[in-house]
Amino acid sequence: MAEIEYTLEQKRDLKTSIPGPKSVELAERRSNAVASGVASSVPVYADKLDGGVILDADGNQLIDLGSGIAVTSVGASAPKVVEKVKEAVEKFTHTCFMVTPYEGYVAVGEKIAELTPGSFDKRAALFNSGSEAVENAVKIARTYTKRSAVVVFDHAYHGRTNLTLAMTSKVMPYKQGFGPFASDVYRVPMSYPFRDADGMTGQEAAERALLLIEKQVGAENVAAVVIEPIQGEGGFIVPAEGFLPTLTKWCQDNGAVFVADEVQAGIARTGTWFSSEWEGIEPDLVTFAKGIAGGMPLSGVVGRAEIMNSVHGGGLGGTYGGNPVACAAALGAIETIEEWGLNERALEIEKIIKEELGDLAESSPIVGELRGRGAMMALEFVEPGSKKPNADAAKQIAAKCMEQGVVILTCGTFGNNVRLLPPLVIDFDLLRDGLRVFVKAIEEAGA
Ligand SMILES: *Cc1c(COP(=O)(O)O)cnc(C)c1O
Repeated sequence: MAEIEYTLEQKRDLKTSIPGPKSVELAERRSNAVASGVASSVPVYADKLDGGVILDADGNQLIDLGSGIAVTSVGASAPKVVEKVKEAVEKFTHTCFMVTPYEGYVAVGEKIAELTPGSFDKRAALFNSGSEAVENAVKIARTYTKRSAVVVFDHAYHGRTNLTLAMTSKVMPYKQGFGPFASDVYRVPMSYPFRDADGMTGQEAAERALLLIEKQVGAENVAAVVIEPIQGEGGFIVPAEGFLPTLTKWCQDNGAVFVADEVQAGIARTGTWFSSEWEGIEPDLVTFAKGIAGGMPLSGVVGRAEIMNSVHGGGLGGTYGGNPVACAAALGAIETIEEWGLNERALEIEKIIKEELGDLAESSPIVGELRGRGAMMALEFVEPGSKKPNADAAKQIAAKCMEQGVVILTCGTFGNNVRLLPPLVIDFDLLRDGLRVFVKAIEEAGA
């Protein structure tokens, strides 16, 4: 396997306090130029990123444990991605695939069909954002089934457009004040082992959801069941074994389209190309985005040919969907994942996280659970002696890490999870350094 190449020294190095003077100056300019509804979780401004390092405007080197929310899995300047982007951008920046097609779009479609679970005949369509991919999956499922109801789950995150906000569960900050939302979207309980009744199996959790679907929506009305195989923003919730297979079987038996929203958990993040593989399921449709193009905006829907092809000609598309430069980046990112063995690396990252975090779930009174798969792991923080969500602890710990040059993100319906999403190319010593800062912050907060 080819050795990972870095252009920045893979080490944490703070030259100023965080944020430094240049970042503070930029924040002032920003406050007069950028709408305040757009917030940033990190107070420093980026200058260059490479591997697991963020070099900021003041020359500080921070450790990246967020990958810009699971996007830069191959790094934010992966050589293969940079090379292919340069090559593509010099040829043409845009034609609009709906006007003048090009090979890159077709090649991404071929590749993604190979990489998604299921050996059946597949077709793909490309878009720009995860939200757009989810919207289009719903459009396709509705056309195919000639039904309209969409079933989603507690803690789900599917995006910020009007339909996907209807599908997203959390009000603050995503939905507050933005309604009314698209109709015919129904929410049912998720399998959430840490918070479900002790011993509840995946099948029992699925039956709980299916009973509601049958009684409150009607099986014959369901166009699509849309679910993240591992929930992202909702708190890295891994459903109990058997939950997803029971849902896919129900969809099959009832003529509904099963859509796996793999926007966050897909593309090698959990140590497999798609996280559905862990449950042995073959979704009818898969949505993908975040990790696909090394940071360039690209998303898509891929799935069963008869479903994808049920839409009339011209029914799918968008001015920029499957942009040629983004497609070139995706082909570079996929090659990078293969050449650098990043699926295997995601599993090694999981091992290192478990080693460094050790028995915190038992020893720290504020840690409820460590969960996740591959390079998608989270700690859920609780009030000592209970399972009551402890968002303050998560916030305080993330801020402590930030001060010391470790970029770490929170998540969860209750805001009480800290999630670890390092670039899959992160140097392992650098990862351990970042995790040790994190563990120290947890110990201090729990003392
Ligand atoms: C981020 C995300 C989306 C939305 O993607 P955008 O590119 O932000 O529109 C949809 N689904 C899941 C699971 C996500 O994590």
